[in-house]
Amino acid sequence: MTHHNTMKALEKSRPEEGLWMVQAPVPEIGPDDVLIRINATGICGTDIHIWNWDDWAAATVPVPLITGHEFAGEIVEVGRNVTDLKIGQRCSGEGHVVGMESRQSRSGKFHLDPGTRGIGVNAQGAFAEYLKLPAFNVVPLPDDIPDEIGAILDPLGNAVHTALSFDLLGEDVLITGAGPIGIMAAAVARHAGARNVVITDVNPERLKLAEHVCGNVRTVDARQDDLHDVVDELGMKQGFDVGLEMSGSQQALDQMVEVMIMGGKIALLGIPPGKSPVDWSRIVFKAITIKGVYGREMFETWYKMIAMLQNGLDVSRVITHRMPVDDFRDAFGAMKSGKTGKVVLDWR
Ligand code: ZN
Repeated sequence: MTHHNTMKALEKSRPEEGLWMVQAPVPEIGPDDVLIRINATGICGTDIHIWNWDDWAAATVPVPLITGHEFAGEIVEVGRNVTDLKIGQRCSGEGHVVGMESRQSRSGKFHLDPGTRGIGVNAQGAFAEYLKLPAFNVVPLPDDIPDEIGAILDPLGNAVHTALSFDLLGEDVLITGAGPIGIMAAAVARHAGARNVVITDVNPERLKLAEHVCGNVRTVDARQDDLHDVVDELGMKQGFDVGLEMSGSQQALDQMVEVMIMGGKIALLGIPPGKSPVDWSRIVFKAITIKGVYGREMFETWYKMIAMLQNGLDVSRVITHRMPVDDFRDAFGAMKSGKTGKVVLDWR
């Protein structure tokens, strides 16, 4: 054991707004776990919900709980059954801890296990100096992927899982919602060989960030511009082939359906706030396929995203803030402004 008995951790200590830096015991690992020393973590929209302690958080998150699920670090201890990982291995990892008994798990679709638990949401999380994780969940990081990219592989994985839901080669792709995941999905669509990639938002700062990260995408301010004009301008005859809905906005989905080609395909990652009316007849008559997307495929999404990062996919500019963890209040404040890309906290 090279580490101490207690560690710094960002904890939801009380059922109210905020997170607190506490001293917590270093987790004890079981025979199938590893202990990871955390180097960098990303702040997710989920963490903002937990900070704010909204209805979802109050109904979902047990208190006290160490939060955070986007991380990169280094293995410092391995359980006695773990044979394929070594101390010193740099890694990120899947934050969904799944069971092995369900039909879906037993058929290899681990991301569809109904009993999944999320680190930093239902189980002790990664905003800490050390994280206990099942060895199964560990994803080793190659040397050419730095910790700060390792710390955003979770949301990049959401983007990759959503974007690769349908074949993108030569297709015209519409992305609604230019948050970090939407922006990364645009970069992935470009990398995957889409012809036109159009991304919409109602926040001009985010559209600017999309241009900064991706370069070759057409940004559309959904408050001012009509997507039909964009379809004409880009020379698409009938509309978009693939839609990636990343905003959770009902209007965005409506606008997307209107400009899809007959038989188009839509992947939904954005989560609408509660029930929302959908014009299903429009979707039926346009013969549109809709797919809900949750998490990342274990571990095909991880494999693909690391392969793409090693083959020229560059999402580094989506990280707009790098801060020492002791400045976490400023980091969360920046996130809440809605003007940031990814905010990465340095734990070293
Ligand atoms: Zn996340």
